[in-house]
Amino acid sequence: MRILIISDIHANLEALDACLQAAPAHDRVFNLGDIVGYGANPNEVTERARQLGTVFVRGNHDKACSGVSSMEDFNPIAGLAVLWTRQKLTADNLQFLRDLPHGPIMPLENVECVHGSPRDEDEYVLMRREAYSLLAHADAPVTFFGHTHVQGGFWIDDSTESEGAIEMKYASAEGKQQFTLKLAGAGKYMINPGSVGQPRDGDPRAAFALYDTDKNSVTYHRVPYDVAAAQEKIFAAGLPERLAIRLEEGR
Ligand code: ZN
Repeated sequence: MRILIISDIHANLEALDACLQAAPAHDRVFNLGDIVGYGANPNEVTERARQLGTVFVRGNHDKACSGVSSMEDFNPIAGLAVLWTRQKLTADNLQFLRDLPHGPIMPLENVECVHGSPRDEDEYVLMRREAYSLLAHADAPVTFFGHTHVQGGFWIDDSTESEGAIEMKYASAEGKQQFTLKLAGAGKYMINPGSVGQPRDGDPRAAFALYDTDKNSVTYHRVPYDVAAAQEKIFAAGLPERLAIRLEEGR
């Protein structure tokens, strides 16, 4: 089975469309949350996400934008985007976002999906040390996570007492790129597909991953998209300008 793994779309329709056009054939879609917040197309993106599949975990922006949680932990710019998004979302999409499940979920026997981390849906897993302690206690050999907007992840292998971060090895910083990571049978992995709609790893291209359960591999993808069009919509909506500028920086 081939599973498209997407996360942190953040209401960026141009980025989502580019990813879906570039995505190889797949059987299912796992969505790791933050469907909305920041971008200018929350309804269109929510509707597209709903058409793609049924496997979701909620993100912190999905919670805040649908009123499940307060904006206490949000910076002023993110908070303004939450208020704007709440007003724009249709009643139906608001309800859908409100009903999204708390992670972790296990859509397959050996696969866990979370937004932040298995122990806390809002935790940012950026550092190797915290990733290794999470992996040591992981319920599944493969955990897909988002929230940091940084493509890559971490692995440990108890059989060889080794561990590491997954380095992105793209041939070029331009155009469509992909590379495949073969998962070792004895290893445990935390895999971040990257952010579709607001990358923060210095690469402005939209990010996603494809998990092939037969080959036991994950293929990371980067795809250019019409950043200028997404930015124009953010300016036109009166959303904070920083939300548009950061898209071209990939920060
Ligand atoms: Zn996010």
